Amino acid sequence: MKITANNPTRKSWLKVSKNSDFPIQNIPFGVFLTKENITTIGTRIGNYAIDLGALHQLGYFSEIPLTDDIFMQDSLNDFISDGRKTWRLVRNRIAAIFDSNNTELQSNKKDLKIIVFNLDDVEMLLPVNIGDYTDFFASKEHATNTGTMFRDPENALLPNWLHLPVGYHGRASSIVVSETAIYRPKGQTIPKDSKIPVFGPTRLLDFELEMAFITTDVNHLGESISIDEAEDYIFGMVLFNDWSARDIQKWEYVPLGPFLGKSFASTISPWIVTMDALEPFRTKSPRQEPNPLPYLQQSGKHAFDIKLQAAIKPEGEEETIVSNSNFKYMYWTMNQQLVHHTTNGCNVRSGDMMGSGTISGPTPDSYGSMLELSWRGTKPVKLNNGSERKFINDFDEVIMRAYCENDNIRIGFGTCKGKILPTK
Ligand code: MN
Repeated sequence: MKITANNPTRKSWLKVSKNSDFPIQNIPFGVFLTKENITTIGTRIGNYAIDLGALHQLGYFSEIPLTDDIFMQDSLNDFISDGRKTWRLVRNRIAAIFDSNNTELQSNKKDLKIIVFNLDDVEMLLPVNIGDYTDFFASKEHATNTGTMFRDPENALLPNWLHLPVGYHGRASSIVVSETAIYRPKGQTIPKDSKIPVFGPTRLLDFELEMAFITTDVNHLGESISIDEAEDYIFGMVLFNDWSARDIQKWEYVPLGPFLGKSFASTISPWIVTMDALEPFRTKSPRQEPNPLPYLQQSGKHAFDIKLQAAIKPEGEEETIVSNSNFKYMYWTMNQQLVHHTTNGCNVRSGDMMGSGTISGPTPDSYGSMLELSWRGTKPVKLNNGSERKFINDFDEVIMRAYCENDNIRIGFGTCKGKILPTK
């Protein structure tokens, strides 16, 4: 089925500013609360939030086989479960309704009032009920940097790293939507030159610049999928800040991996940008040497050129951009991650989320965490207000942005923001 929603020449009758992340070619999916306290599934064009529940109820999707309440829900899980054909039909139809040549809704004042809101008048909620969350460690630069810092520069990558996408099972309950305040976590840490741990607020609070993908129902327990079909199961992506307490992490992580140093919170951007919308931004991923085992081999373009940015904004001050990275640097692709995840027969379900792992580029200004940017605190990062940061302070806000751009269009993710408050 053709993705007519991606037509780069299409214009909308809704006003969209030139540098918007959300032109009519994007059509992401999210969940929001209206002024009337109604929770609904919606999309966004420019700075307008569009109520898909109301649009469906008023008959605008009558040609598409959808259950009556598919959009009148507090999560996208059921819609995502309907599969790629439905996602495409719905995006194509939304594009047609808001096309500047189409007057059916544009000229219907009564319907318009029920369907289209100013973005400022709605409150964004978590878009999916995340059943399970897995985080990978898939940027070679990030793995090399951390391996160099904590182990051995000569053998920065552990022997398994080039053969499989390393990951761990994270905590889904503490994934929050952008603009949710984060309390500085407390826990056990080990003071330098001591064998006895102490308990208190983390002193090394960090962000991790990541993207995450959201799946539909992938496999039944005991089954696995092949690399050729992996793409069919990926619905879309969000920005992902995998907050990390480095001192807690360092003391607890051997031998079973990350635990409380990670599980206190992760922040996602509210709009899920579909893989269909990202189609024009496919690119080649880094060459894999040695060649991975056959079940992980793929040819063609399976990376995406998504520009990434992280900024720190101290309270009442302007922000400072501290990192410019790109999703295309990922060594392991999302397809490889998903295939590897199912090889043992573990079932992946609609609404599951997989984090890419910190996305660091090849140069120091493209590192995706303060751990790397300040090189473990040895090179403080200068902010525009004259202050310095090794890690994140109380009342600092971390702002992440992501967008794709070519000569015709810009498709973006908006922002993923979180402000650190003192320990509760
Ligand atoms: Mn992470």
